[in-house]
Amino acid sequence: MYLINRDKQDICMAQIQNNYIAGKWVAGITSIENRNPSNHAEVIGEFAQASSAQVQEALSAAKQAQLVWQATGLEARLQVLQAIGDEMIARCDELGKLLSQEEGKPFAEGRGEVYRAGQFFQYYAAQVLRQMGETADSVRPGVEIETRREPMGIVAIISPWNFPTATASWKIAPALAFGNAVIWKPANLTPASAVALTEIIAKQNLPDGLFNLVMGSGSEVGEQLINSTEVDAISFTGSLQVGRRIAQAAAGNLTKFQLEMGSKNALIVLDDADLDIAADCAVGGAFGGTGQKCTASSRLIVTEGVHDAFVEKVKQRMANLKVGDALAEGVTIGPVVDAKQLQQNRDYMKLAEDEGCELVCGGEIDDSQGYFMTPALFVNTTNQMRINREEAFAPIACVIKVADYEEALATLNDTEYGLTGGICTQSLKYASHFKRHAKTGCVMVNLPTAGTDYHVPFGGRKNSSYGSREQGQYAEEFYTEVKTSYIKA
Ligand code: NDP
Repeated sequence: MYLINRDKQDICMAQIQNNYIAGKWVAGITSIENRNPSNHAEVIGEFAQASSAQVQEALSAAKQAQLVWQATGLEARLQVLQAIGDEMIARCDELGKLLSQEEGKPFAEGRGEVYRAGQFFQYYAAQVLRQMGETADSVRPGVEIETRREPMGIVAIISPWNFPTATASWKIAPALAFGNAVIWKPANLTPASAVALTEIIAKQNLPDGLFNLVMGSGSEVGEQLINSTEVDAISFTGSLQVGRRIAQAAAGNLTKFQLEMGSKNALIVLDDADLDIAADCAVGGAFGGTGQKCTASSRLIVTEGVHDAFVEKVKQRMANLKVGDALAEGVTIGPVVDAKQLQQNRDYMKLAEDEGCELVCGGEIDDSQGYFMTPALFVNTTNQMRINREEAFAPIACVIKVADYEEALATLNDTEYGLTGGICTQSLKYASHFKRHAKTGCVMVNLPTAGTDYHVPFGGRKNSSYGSREQGQYAEEFYTEVKTSYIKA
């Protein structure tokens, strides 16, 4: 059904991919074209945009379906989630290819993302049976107390393009596992992966309207969802700017919300670090996914004693990176997602140069066929420069030279963000101190700042996140509400 590696003629003959509302695939009022960032002449497909009335229809259907789902036996819920996860894993080559084609990450990363997304469904399938309440004696004799969790109701999920399948899955899977209905608005830059996942979910025997896909822009479909009083909870991943907008809208209706936004993550490299490990962590963490990760280490904070040797090792590794078509053999860095993001990268390259940073490697841009940029490394940068304070979402890393561990830690924490932080050291003393004093939601020791597991909480501090944590058992906090019952026999 998907249009992988076909030419434009095939596309013209292809149908527009529709939204999934109230258990049916429905045409939108308009459609958008989805293009391959590795080759912007290639159209991947056309995707329906939901009307306001269709979003309303999804909300109404979700309300009814959620009541049925809440009353559905746990084993049926478990089997649905397990089946979705199994199919995603079984089809990760095919779906990974589609994801890489529309988002631009190399095939190995696209495949890995779909596989991981399948694991989220499998993990939450098991969690269906791990929903336990608590009991207590009342202070009043003869009265017993029980606390249990109940579903929120309708959850609106607004997801980004950089992990179009995994991010959506780590929200959809717990939402369904804990008994909610879902209205999903994916990013308009990556609709093909959204339709593919929806097709897998739609195969399951779910009440009509329990799961709805409403493609459309953030300014229309997104705004309608975040302002709706029928939505009980909003889960969002994307930019700080849109996160703030969602917080305002949700606060107006007192709707529960959680936000996972950008960051300005740093990796510290101390004098005692294994420099090969440190350089691997830096290159993988800064440039994987073309730097378009909320966990990317765009700041490399290095102590004086190893600064020059570390920069040399990073440069050597960067020379081996192969930038090119996401689906081409041997490519390690795919294109930037679109022309707008590439322009943002250009602007940040210029800003770094204007601020006096020294470019020692990369930064070449070629957008004649796709949106390609070689990863860039700057030295002679300071933490006060804008390039080290704003999230660029680009394959750009800046080295900040510091005197010692204490200055490194203070520099890492001197940012408005706080998602992940890393350190490369062989010292237990520094690793232990760092683990406790980095003001970030996730800490990595001798590991890249990017790359997290699916069974443990994920999220950040300061402007990186708001609300309860995602993933692992912690997701229960967002997707359920606690009820306290008093019982007198
Ligand atoms: P956005 O925050 O604009 O988009 C994220 C999602 O929110 C998309 O589905 C988008 O829809 C939707 N959205 C946009 N505006 C609204 C709104 N008013 N109400 C409800 N939903 C809305 O991120 P961008 O894609 O524009 O990327 C811009 C920057 O954001 C990046 O350069 C990066 O810095 C950061 N970012 C961070 C991510 C992270 O993982 N933390 C992920 C993606 C981006 P649509 O795009 O379809 O209009």
